[in-house]
Amino acid sequence: MAIDQRVMEIADKAAEGTAPSREDVLHLLSFDEYSVEASYVCAIARQMATKAGKGLGLIHAQIGVDAYPCPENCRFCTFAAINYDADKGYSFDSAPEVPLEHIAAIAKTFDEEGAHLISLMATAGLPFERYLEMVRATRAAVSPEMLIMVNAADMTLEEAKALKDAGAQVAYHARRVLEGELTDIEPALREQTIANIHEVGLALMTGVEPLWEGIDPEELADRIMEIPAFKPYCTGACTLSPAKDTEMEHEIPSSTSKVRYVAAIVRLVCGYDVPFGGVGGAIWVDAGADPRGRGYEPDHAYLRSLVHRARRTLTRDGWDVPAHLDPSFLTR
Ligand code: SF4
Repeated sequence: MAIDQRVMEIADKAAEGTAPSREDVLHLLSFDEYSVEASYVCAIARQMATKAGKGLGLIHAQIGVDAYPCPENCRFCTFAAINYDADKGYSFDSAPEVPLEHIAAIAKTFDEEGAHLISLMATAGLPFERYLEMVRATRAAVSPEMLIMVNAADMTLEEAKALKDAGAQVAYHARRVLEGELTDIEPALREQTIANIHEVGLALMTGVEPLWEGIDPEELADRIMEIPAFKPYCTGACTLSPAKDTEMEHEIPSSTSKVRYVAAIVRLVCGYDVPFGGVGGAIWVDAGADPRGRGYEPDHAYLRSLVHRARRTLTRDGWDVPAHLDPSFLTR
């Protein structure tokens, strides 16, 4: 079967340390995710990711901590103020916040089962002081080695420092696809947040998201190309979860194969500088408030089974699942 020679050259050069140009990325995106070219790129990216992350596979646990109407208005999100339907009953114990003791208990369960990181995902409607309390409560509930990731509204330098002092080591932030058009977030503010995260010494996780059918390749190439400048320790790509009664509920999310292909291109662009992400090596398990309306199961036995399944899946796929992640991986 013939394979496009330029695609092979782009991937081979990336493996040797020369990152693709934006034109190269656009060329890669001109092939669909089921092409032999995509298979080649994914295979090379997998080899690069294995080398960059020393073959480690990580279990990331996420707790949605609140369900306030969110002023950021991401069109795909149930909690966006424009999509919000209070009749859906987003309250927990009559408040739109998961109670501190529940957050702590879920975090403890994830810790006991061997997750490597606990993400506390908040809306931008959650008061910052309440979020700080949640970070502190989580820190107190888990072992000292457990990584805590903050995934909340854009943050000032002072807020980023306060979150670090409260016990977080990692922050998730991304400039999403069509940020500022499909969201009410100013892209420059997002980039300032990423700078603040680095300034206070939090490690950054980021990604190219969300992905759905019909995104302009020029936009996608821009989002892929900027990832190295964000200096993450972990990155990747994520599909759209079309939530019912949102402005984007009828969009078709990108296939698993397409997400894998985009993540592989991200890996080619990042080279070996980013230890994790870009074709496998990390699995997410979720609990708490759910902005995509998927309906998480609160039962701890089920949460434990999710972590067990994540470990089995990573092992099946050839990743080595460590007891804890060496913090040296976080510094770049
Ligand atoms: S995705 Fe996050 S930032 Fe956007 S509206 Fe939903 S909660 Fe707010």
